[in-house]
Amino acid sequence: MIEIATALELIVKHTRPLQAERIQLAEAVGRRLIRPVVADVDSPPHDKSLMDGFAVRSVDLHEPNVRLQVIDTILAGRYSTKILTAGTAIRIMTGAPIPAGADAVVMLEQTTFDSTADASTVLVHEPVVAGRNIMRRSQSMRLGEVVLPESHLIRPHDVGLLAEVGMQELEVFRSPSIAILATGDELVSAAEMPEKAHIRNSNGPMLAALSMRLSNSVHDLGIARDNHNSLREKIAIGLESNLLVLSGGVSAGMVDLVPQVLNECGVRQVFHKVSIKPGKPIWFGVREDGEHCQYVFGLPGNPVSTLACFEVFVVACWQRLTGGVFPERTMRTGVLAQDHVVRGGRPTYWPVRTSVDDGGVTRIHPLPWQGSSDLKCLAEADSLALFPPRDSTYRIGEQVQVLLLNEIPNC
Ligand code: AMP
Ligand code: MG
Repeated sequence: MIEIATALELIVKHTRPLQAERIQLAEAVGRRLIRPVVADVDSPPHDKSLMDGFAVRSVDLHEPNVRLQVIDTILAGRYSTKILTAGTAIRIMTGAPIPAGADAVVMLEQTTFDSTADASTVLVHEPVVAGRNIMRRSQSMRLGEVVLPESHLIRPHDVGLLAEVGMQELEVFRSPSIAILATGDELVSAAEMPEKAHIRNSNGPMLAALSMRLSNSVHDLGIARDNHNSLREKIAIGLESNLLVLSGGVSAGMVDLVPQVLNECGVRQVFHKVSIKPGKPIWFGVREDGEHCQYVFGLPGNPVSTLACFEVFVVACWQRLTGGVFPERTMRTGVLAQDHVVRGGRPTYWPVRTSVDDGGVTRIHPLPWQGSSDLKCLAEADSLALFPPRDSTYRIGEQVQVLLLNEIPNC
């Protein structure tokens, strides 16, 4: 049995990022950049006004209540060919280019504007210092500057920046197709009422839902039965995807045939069994088929094991496939809101609810979890807290790390 860190290293070692593809900017969220993006413009492209008001010469305005002659108006999207000379001002709107000769903008609210048919003037109430309310050309970014690095995971607000630098199309790592397969003779679909000895397949829909955060090509292959033919038939379909995630059939039971059938299908085992609770029997393997590889996870069938293993290992594999640099999810730190007992010698992911107290400290509330089959308890959970491998009572106030559920992983 290997440690979690070793398993993650093995995933990184055996997984190659997928190739590049060109996509439209509108489809870019959740994808990673193949190469850095460089600004093709300065931002702002000119010295610009940050206020609606009057462009002025600060030397004219060392005193309060100075009256200036208004010689032009500049709306956003326009510019003025006039040059400010002593005693003059130009009316200007937010975003418009600063006219020649001006070195400050005084906001409208600090002026009184007078306009007649012959002339317009403005009374500036307070003295003004040079540079006031002006954003200098390229103050935000400079032509040629890297604005987003290689491998960056594109978030909705990055789309705005990418548009600003003219990226209508961009090259990103391909997104893996993911196939989901639940296994077990006892499983019936969610549409059915389970009879004696049967349970509903909760893992299949859950794994599909977890995968949909990561890929828009997710195929739920339903249920394979605990026999060679059924498994082989469904696994063959699953291997048409980049990533195949199975649940069940990887432990030591008489009909836990998944590792064997995967092996028969040409999937080479990388590891089987990790020191983690829940989820110890997890299996990972790779099928190399010329240029292409398929990556396969066999997750233990108990639903919370399936969930924890997906979040810790499958997500790491996805990150690597899609060009992510770090294999591990970022964890947050909080303090226990109550004493908590953890038994056993394996690192344990325990379902918890988090809250933030008045001082901004994350407080961790362990839930009354009944073990790896108790998915119901997760209804109240927002995170899994990681307890190190020691058999012990953790005291209120002790620091613990948590993995946030339902987060799009982006390290
Ligand atoms: P296994 O890993 O196949 O030994 O299954 C371990 C436990 O998880 C058994 O109690 C199974 O009935 C249960 N289980 C397996 N697959 C699923 C599933 N798709 N949905 C819900 N429970 C499952
Ligand atoms: Mg089973």
